[in-house]
Amino acid sequence: MTRSGTDLIMICASDVAGQMRGKAVPRNTWESRQKTGIGWTPTNVLQTSFGPIAPSPWGALGDLAIRPDPETLIDLQIEEAGINESFAIGDIYTLENERWDCCLRGQLKTALERLEARHGLRIKASFEHEFHYSGLPDQDGLGYTLRTFRRLGAFPNTLMSVLDAAGLGIDTFMPEYGPGQCEVTVGPKPALRAADEAVILRDLVRATARGQGARASFAPILRPGGVGNGVHVHFSLETLDGTPVCYDPDQPHDVARPSGAFVAGILDRLPEFLAIAAPSVPSYLRLVPHRWSAAFNNFGNKDRESAVRICPVFGDTDPESMARKFHFEFRAADATASPYLLLSALVNAGLDGLDRDLPTPTPTETDLSALDEAELAANGCRRLASSLDESLTALTSSTWAADAFGETLVDVIDRHKRTEIGLMNGLSEEEICARYYAAY
Ligand code: GLU
Ligand code: MG
Repeated sequence: MTRSGTDLIMICASDVAGQMRGKAVPRNTWESRQKTGIGWTPTNVLQTSFGPIAPSPWGALGDLAIRPDPETLIDLQIEEAGINESFAIGDIYTLENERWDCCLRGQLKTALERLEARHGLRIKASFEHEFHYSGLPDQDGLGYTLRTFRRLGAFPNTLMSVLDAAGLGIDTFMPEYGPGQCEVTVGPKPALRAADEAVILRDLVRATARGQGARASFAPILRPGGVGNGVHVHFSLETLDGTPVCYDPDQPHDVARPSGAFVAGILDRLPEFLAIAAPSVPSYLRLVPHRWSAAFNNFGNKDRESAVRICPVFGDTDPESMARKFHFEFRAADATASPYLLLSALVNAGLDGLDRDLPTPTPTETDLSALDEAELAANGCRRLASSLDESLTALTSSTWAADAFGETLVDVIDRHKRTEIGLMNGLSEEEICARYYAAY
């Protein structure tokens, strides 16, 4: 199959609903579209994943342009995998050619520019995704088994070849703990590329599953009491010349000073940006103790129930390579969040920790679910919000968030997500999980 000049390329932007939306243009106009972009409407950002559009401050007014970044073009035809994908990720600009306040990729670029300008630092990241694959009958008790891996059939290998063809540095595939649950990890990249790869990966996982006659869902949790699908963000800091700055064997838990302040900022501001990292109603069925997600804004050393975890470095003693591998993992997010906005929240919060020179947090070592509020405070943390309603209130009351993301975006998130909460009113938790399973 060769491509024809009229074959379409979708130009998309990742939005507040965590969806990729855009318009398609014929391939023979791709060059010129890189300059002009495609027309876009502000109210599109108020489209929920369930049909209704949240009350828009713009109504039918206003015009914007999504301009594709050619570096993000995915142009893949793999017939035996059933893959025929042509899409590119873009930035949303105003007609005055400025970054639009609600362009989430632009939000990330702004946060990264601040980190460079104020502290001379860059961030490397990698997104670890869990999702449900529908191509085999769900069966409990077969987590991580060779049997499940075999029963997944051609899906894992096909997926690896598709991700490789797309230029993503594949790392691991796992038949995860939950029935039908899989996990894919890719290697670390500069922050903007890492977020690009996260949205690319989600859509290529969906496309590959579809090629197998199945479907993949990135919903945060499939049924109340079930296993969550997390998105864990692995990250490390480096100087502008690429020197890693997270590892210091002379500091407690090997956490170097500047990175300790960065992590402290993330944990301190997490209650205020949780509605960005966990932006759906069922996100909060996942963020409960003993689910290996995160239920407190705590720091953990090799602890899979901490909001930020120090990841172990395996099989290495050379200090230079240890420094390159040493990193942290943020565990409180799921795939209903746009990777751009999520990463921009982590950067803005970490930046706030650097600006205030916050002390490196002490990792918690007890079962925090057994502690009351005062005991949690003595451990330097608190329980995270237990509903989207609660986390949204924390976001909209935060002067830090208004400053970091701008009042327009915070207002848009509030309108959008409050409408989404309203759409789930009166549904049982099972029904809510089913709605998100279909939507993500
Ligand atoms: N499924 C867990 C979550 O919801 C994560 C399990 C793990 O990979 O540690 O985040
Ligand atoms: Mg996992």
